[in-house]
Amino acid sequence: MENQAKSKQFISLRLKWAFGTAVGSLLIFIVVTMALFMTFTQSLFRQERSLLNQGMTNISQQLAKSDRPLTKQGIVTIIDPDQDHSLVQGADYQRPVIKELSDRHLIVNVYNPQGKNLLSTGRPDVRPALVNDRQVRIYKGAHHQILVGHMPIYSQKSRQVIGYLQVENNLNTYVNSYRQLRIVCILALCLVVLASGLLGYFLSFFFLQPLSGIHDTVKAISKDPTKDIRVPVVKRNDELAELIETFNEMLDRMQRYIDQQSQFVSDVSHELRTPVAIIQGHLEMLQRWGKDDPQVLDDSLAASLVETKRMKNLVQEMLDLSRAEQVEINFRDQRTVVNDVVHQVFNNFKMLYPEFTFTLDDDVDEKIVANIYRDHLEQVLVILCDNAVKYSGERKEIHLTLSRGMSTVEIGVQDFGEGIAPADAQRVFDRFYRVDKARSRKKGGNGLGLSIAQRLIEGYHGSISLESSLGAGSLFKVVLPIIEDEEDK
Ligand code: ADP
Repeated sequence: MENQAKSKQFISLRLKWAFGTAVGSLLIFIVVTMALFMTFTQSLFRQERSLLNQGMTNISQQLAKSDRPLTKQGIVTIIDPDQDHSLVQGADYQRPVIKELSDRHLIVNVYNPQGKNLLSTGRPDVRPALVNDRQVRIYKGAHHQILVGHMPIYSQKSRQVIGYLQVENNLNTYVNSYRQLRIVCILALCLVVLASGLLGYFLSFFFLQPLSGIHDTVKAISKDPTKDIRVPVVKRNDELAELIETFNEMLDRMQRYIDQQSQFVSDVSHELRTPVAIIQGHLEMLQRWGKDDPQVLDDSLAASLVETKRMKNLVQEMLDLSRAEQVEINFRDQRTVVNDVVHQVFNNFKMLYPEFTFTLDDDVDEKIVANIYRDHLEQVLVILCDNAVKYSGERKEIHLTLSRGMSTVEIGVQDFGEGIAPADAQRVFDRFYRVDKARSRKKGGNGLGLSIAQRLIEGYHGSISLESSLGAGSLFKVVLPIIEDEEDK
């Protein structure tokens, strides 16, 4: 896999970006330029065509004044009656109307009804066509395409065909403009591709600069995961800045997990060391001289049994703790009627500890459903009630309450025992934390009960809090969100 990944050729994101922008702008430019080019050249072509049409109309109208078939002399008389008609020489005709037209790249030729040329302002590229109606067509010229119009000339008076008119537009202006425009477009295209490629490259260089910071950090951390290194923060306000922030937060979290993990391992080995040492001590004593002394044998076995039981509890509690961290995933859709569980735990404890006075203050009429696995709610209440029993002094009273808020249900467990000092109240939810280690140990506590309870409740989006004053007792409050529209279960 690794080799395969390595064998893939590395192509910088900057190059890809530059290439992408260049291709993108090339496509856009081609579309826009083509549209402009076509519009412009078509309009130019229309102009040339209308010039030709106009010329044809002007000349044919003038020549139509004759009522007989056209002759060279007749044409001169019609177009310019005041001129000296002896100037008419061959086919070249210089009269104003024709001259003006021929200046504008029009070649005019007039033929008599039999097809004989009577007048010409230039050599025609196309053979005469004796047509019945007006036609304008594109023909292939010597160098490029030309536009040619043919039409019969009808006498205004007799309505007879008196000749034929052929006007050619060599389209030189149009073709020159077309070619110039094409060169300009190609040059602009090259310029745009080059400029956008360069711009893309430099922009990507600027935008992707923070990536190298991320890359260096990831590399350093993959070499040594314990390294306390973070991606340098950039003074920007974009996705990469956000990514860096999230990435650094993730590294912080990872660091915390690693610290917690190693702390957990050291806590656990520390907790296990005492019972193991005690059992070892007793076994050594038995091995040396206790075998023959029934009293020592009895005491040592009893003490060892207590310690093994403690270890068993400790292992079970650690398992509960690690499971409590996954309730969100494994018990997401569990529903429990809170009232039932509270009443059940209350009744169990009343039965288990007859020397205690248990009271339950329940001012909720309807059934309250919360998103929590039933056994987990029970486990939390048992932990709290167990602690209340364990840490009650002379006054053996335990008070449970059940009430509901707007969208939450609140369960209180109160005792009137030794209480917890404010400094310790912050820490009793920490793993393995015990206010009085020796005394708590005597009572069989491992300091895990409250951390399990807290993780369970928080896993179900609830909260657990403590109000306590030293010597006066403690009140633990559990708050859980209610599921309103759920059918009672
Ligand atoms: P443990 O198993 O030792 O009871 P917990 O996590 O349940 O562990 O409690 C942590 C510590 O908090 C206990 O060791 C005890 O010192 C203190 N504590 C818990 N509940 C009470 C209480 N109701 N009154 C006084 N102290 C308490």
